[in-house]
Amino acid sequence: MAEPCIFCDIVGGKYGTKFLYEDEACVAFADVKPMAPTHILVVPREHHPRLQAAAEEEKLLGRLMSVAAKVVKDRDFRVVVNDGADAGQTVYHLHVHVLSGRHFGWPPG
Ligand code: AMP
Repeated sequence: MAEPCIFCDIVGGKYGTKFLYEDEACVAFADVKPMAPTHILVVPREHHPRLQAAAEEEKLLGRLMSVAAKVVKDRDFRVVVNDGADAGQTVYHLHVHVLSGRHFGWPPG
């Protein structure tokens, strides 16, 4: 049996999460613990544990970037993928963070 996955549950509609965007490949919804005034997660419907495991999925990865740009419209924004524990990944279902509404420093923490 597959491991439980919070994002698979959200994608499946288990919690009635409001989708800000959805198509056949992915959904977007607000992060529960926002790190910026706008903090949206773009999440593929299919379970891939992390970016490294989805490296061959060029079409899907392109879609995630395209949707990231669409959900923030024309504002300045930052896209982040935390891939693996040292990079800060906590949910092992591929997702793209889309952050906007404040200034972001560089280098990141
Ligand atoms: P990461 O640490 O890069 O794996 O990002 C996981 C993100 O998922 C974090 O920013 C969490 O705040 C967010 N998160 C975890 N559970 C939920 C949830 N049920 N609904 C929305 N966002 C969530």
